[in-house]
Amino acid sequence: MKKKEAYCASWIVPVVSPPMREAALIVEDGVISTIVPGHELPRHAKNLKIYNFPNGVILPAWVNAHTHLELSYFKDETIPAGQFFEWVERLLAVRAQKENPQRVKTAALQQMRLMRQSGTALAGDITNGPLLEPLPDEPLERAIFYEILGFLPERAEVIFEKAQQELQARNPHAILTPHAPYSTSPHLLKKIASASARMSIHLAESKSEYAFLTEGSAELTAFLKARKAWPENWKTPGKTPVGYLNDLGLLHGKTLLVHGVQVTDRDLDILKNSGAAVCICARSNDRLNVGLPPIQKYLEKGIPLCIGTDSLASNVSLDLNDEIYYLWERFNQALHPVTLVRMATLNGARALGREGEFGSLEVGKKAAFNVFEFDEAIKEEPESAVVSRKWRRLRCF
Ligand SMILES: [Zn+2]
Repeated sequence: MKKKEAYCASWIVPVVSPPMREAALIVEDGVISTIVPGHELPRHAKNLKIYNFPNGVILPAWVNAHTHLELSYFKDETIPAGQFFEWVERLLAVRAQKENPQRVKTAALQQMRLMRQSGTALAGDITNGPLLEPLPDEPLERAIFYEILGFLPERAEVIFEKAQQELQARNPHAILTPHAPYSTSPHLLKKIASASARMSIHLAESKSEYAFLTEGSAELTAFLKARKAWPENWKTPGKTPVGYLNDLGLLHGKTLLVHGVQVTDRDLDILKNSGAAVCICARSNDRLNVGLPPIQKYLEKGIPLCIGTDSLASNVSLDLNDEIYYLWERFNQALHPVTLVRMATLNGARALGREGEFGSLEVGKKAAFNVFEFDEAIKEEPESAVVSRKWRRLRCF
């Protein structure tokens, strides 16, 4: 017999339709079967286990659209806040000296558990290899992006072929993706695009990256030369990061741009026309002193936004409630709580290509949801009460 449960709360927020007052979410074998007004529950009550949350608000589970779980051990390797490429140098040094497979896995699993307990059910997770395979008993779903890089054009073929073999051997479901335009040659970018329908790329993050592509950057040139990754025939494209990616044919409805801080008004038009989504990682941007993304302009243009924490190398937690609260406080004028909830749920699921299972409370989707419990009944706009963190307890299903 099917396992059937009803979760009754003072509000249910399906995200794809207006919040319902005094309603019940009915779940069969882990899948949402319907949402009904509370007074209709007796009609469905046969063989039903009922859970009551009298002052509760039910929302879909959060989607963290961008993180690097393999960097979770940086919780114990704090890199001081500083300028972007100083931070990159330190990150690479720690990875080279102190990373080992067991440390990566232990820290990642611990963070996955914390993420799940704080309401995240799906994460867009970037790996350079260490977490390419799913670990046994992962407590949340990962949309795994296998990130590769290499700025020497003559290396593109070899790097690409090796990555394809790794994917086949270790996880054919993972998505091949480039790191960033200053670390991945245009040749390699195009090769990845030819193999991957979907991609998630760090873009328009630091001012140095912007300068590198528009007019040249001594800092980034020195950085690449120090790594023997400087192609002597490189010509500054004279384009913004968004314009550069667009001209390479990499901007489309399945492109997720991560960061999107350094963008011009013209870039916004390009993005809008492309259908690409932008993942906002504002706490990370703040920590690395790169500025903050123009959220209001993105919203005015109708560009889809989602939310990521980025990694513990540039953030203090992977808890999406912390990220949401930061955005709510910082962008209070621009970001309506209803928009913020959509960014943290459905937009994230869409950006990862997983909207068939996650991101909203709809019939047939996974029963992955959060119950926020309050001391008193919420009279109106439950999204506002959730994002402003007025809740007492969070229960995750
Ligand atoms: Zn990142």
